[in-house]
Amino acid sequence: MSSLPARTRIAPSPTGEYHIGHMRTCLYNYALARQSGGQFIIRIEDTDQKRLVIGAQDRILKVIKNYGLSWDEGPDIGGPYAPYVQTQRLDIYQKYIKKLLDQGLAYYCFCSQERLDHIRDQQKKLKQIPKYDRHCLKLTPQEIKQKIDSGQPYVIRMKMPDNETIRFTDSIRGQISFNTRDLDDQVLIKSNGIPTYHFAAVVDDILMKVTHVLRGEEWISSTPKQILLYKYLDAPLPQFVHLTVILDPRGGKMSKRSGSVAAQAFLDEGYLPEAMLNFLMLLGWNPGTDQELFTLEEFVKEFSLDRLHKKSPVFDRKKLDYFNGLYIRQKSDEELFPYFKKFLPAANDEQIKILIPVLKERLVKFGDLPQTLNFLFTDVDYDSELLLKKGTKPEIAIDMLEKTKTLFTDNFSDLQARLMNLIQANNWNVGEYFMVLRVAICGSAFTPPIVEILPALGFDKTLHKLDVALDKLK
Ligand code: GLU
Repeated sequence: MSSLPARTRIAPSPTGEYHIGHMRTCLYNYALARQSGGQFIIRIEDTDQKRLVIGAQDRILKVIKNYGLSWDEGPDIGGPYAPYVQTQRLDIYQKYIKKLLDQGLAYYCFCSQERLDHIRDQQKKLKQIPKYDRHCLKLTPQEIKQKIDSGQPYVIRMKMPDNETIRFTDSIRGQISFNTRDLDDQVLIKSNGIPTYHFAAVVDDILMKVTHVLRGEEWISSTPKQILLYKYLDAPLPQFVHLTVILDPRGGKMSKRSGSVAAQAFLDEGYLPEAMLNFLMLLGWNPGTDQELFTLEEFVKEFSLDRLHKKSPVFDRKKLDYFNGLYIRQKSDEELFPYFKKFLPAANDEQIKILIPVLKERLVKFGDLPQTLNFLFTDVDYDSELLLKKGTKPEIAIDMLEKTKTLFTDNFSDLQARLMNLIQANNWNVGEYFMVLRVAICGSAFTPPIVEILPALGFDKTLHKLDVALDKLK
């Protein structure tokens, strides 16, 4: 339990879909803010106008909501430090860059792209770290004024100290240090007047009074530059927490090769938000006990920075499936109804009521329903050999199907008992019989409990499928 109220934030760039790793970062930021009685902020970092994707901002907010997380300040609800979209804050960044310029902590740079490319190439050839050569640092105020007045494009760069060690303590990684010798004079304001990520993020984190920055480890190398900016702007540092990267089971960073990576895609596949959150809770944090199932409320209580993993976790889909199954089974049939309806648009309400108790016990995710229950809505094509999979002789299979037809004249009650009587009376092998029936009805050897599912299929379709199977055998 952290003592002081934490103000945390996520700062998504609306450049694409919200990744499952982002959602984990979001969850941990949420938990820290909530457990300490602080605030959780969403800020949109849209300064990279070239990479903007139309609609991405709305989709990001929507998916976070769909996962069941809420925020206290953000672009849609405002807050004491509004606006929460960086392109709506451009005048703020101007004010702060002016401060840095006046103090000589930032400077104008008029170098052309060709010149920058050229020095970069030279440095590469000499195996040096590519860095701006400070050509424009030598300009006099008169020269600068004259260039600006004549309309020359420029950027504003940060002036790095020459040889200073920047140290910070990351909650997960401990002490980290960088020497400013290795750092470039970072561009803070681009030639279009829009700030870069580094500058805008630091100004905003300062103004929005962010106390903890929990983000992906890919931002570690940005941190020393940002720390210097805090210093230049005379602001206290937040606590930095760089979360491990999520690994793909096949190695490397999690990628599309092994399935979805977009947070929304998991919901679209029929994973429950509660199960997703529970899975993400343990994907980078451990409770220090054997407890695996956590409600969001419990997690908020238990979460602590000192139990965040140092080692990158592997995205284990089997474990996610396991969680999802557990969460499905915790729901009542009534609660499951809307999910079944959504994933089985062709089924009517009566069918869904029959299907829920039959499928609930074994269902992994709702997205599996259409495939599993395909036979309810269409004639599934299959090879006649499949009917004889268990070594049943064709004439026996025909006999089985014909006699089974006689049972479907009245109602489905006691069907299991009536089928067992039929099997016994004819001395058929139970396993063979049910395979023939299963394949005839579903067109597959792997199906939901066949007897219980028949009422959802109804008399007419059941008889039709038995006839199709008989045709195949004759
Ligand atoms: N805009 C950055 C992103 O897209 C935010 C990085 C940060 O949290 O500082 O992830």
